[in-house]
Amino acid sequence: MTPSKLLTVLAAAIIMQFTTAGTSGAGSTGHEHEVHWTYEGETGPERWGDLKPEFSACKAGHSQSPIDITGAVKTDLPAMETRYGDTTLRVINNGHAIQANYDKGSYAVIGGKRYDLLQFHFHGPSENTVEGKAFPLEGHLVHKSEDGKLAVIGILYKEGKENKTIGAVWENVPHEQGTEKAAKDEKINAKGIMPEAMAYYHFDGSLTTTPCTEGVSWNLLKTPVEISAKQIEEFRKYYKNSARPVQPLHGRVVNVSN
Ligand SMILES: [Zn+2]
Repeated sequence: MTPSKLLTVLAAAIIMQFTTAGTSGAGSTGHEHEVHWTYEGETGPERWGDLKPEFSACKAGHSQSPIDITGAVKTDLPAMETRYGDTTLRVINNGHAIQANYDKGSYAVIGGKRYDLLQFHFHGPSENTVEGKAFPLEGHLVHKSEDGKLAVIGILYKEGKENKTIGAVWENVPHEQGTEKAAKDEKINAKGIMPEAMAYYHFDGSLTTTPCTEGVSWNLLKTPVEISAKQIEEFRKYYKNSARPVQPLHGRVVNVSN
């Protein structure tokens, strides 16, 4: 093989690898024929429930997320425990959110039940609002119990000083959508994106993205965490609006810990 021919073959191999990585990355959610949904326009939140029969909860559900938190009832909620170890920094831009996948072994105890931490991701502006007020960014720590129940710990962000952990996440967002980038030498801890105070609002809700599955335990921390204006701006470069509008309560009660 001539050197130039060898180069061509190598280039083709590299391109193929890229294409395959892109496809398998996007398909790693396990849906070959994934229905396209967005935060605006024809396939926006008002239409999610009609895009696919499996998404019907988005329009027919009665405990949908996010919500506006107003008139929360003070309750003796059990303290939430978070046992979060460090994780290798593994970031993915899945086309709907910037997400950091978490190494196994970290968990939270919510309402006396253990939920393993799977990943955290961000929405901007915030999805849940408090007394009608939205925040520039909201983080979701997604957990799953052994029996398959989901619990989210939500964090609200307000403009202020820079957050180091979020800085590390933003710096490692892969260029290619749907592919995970691992910063092998860098460890982060979910504690770095959370407030110290663990007072929280608790309510029943759903996934805030399709298929809007209900039965999710929502636990939104009361104390906002600061991030810099620059960090908010950086996030907006990826997602101008990735917040589902607030949904009706349908008689649900929001509790707030003492
Ligand atoms: Zn979310």
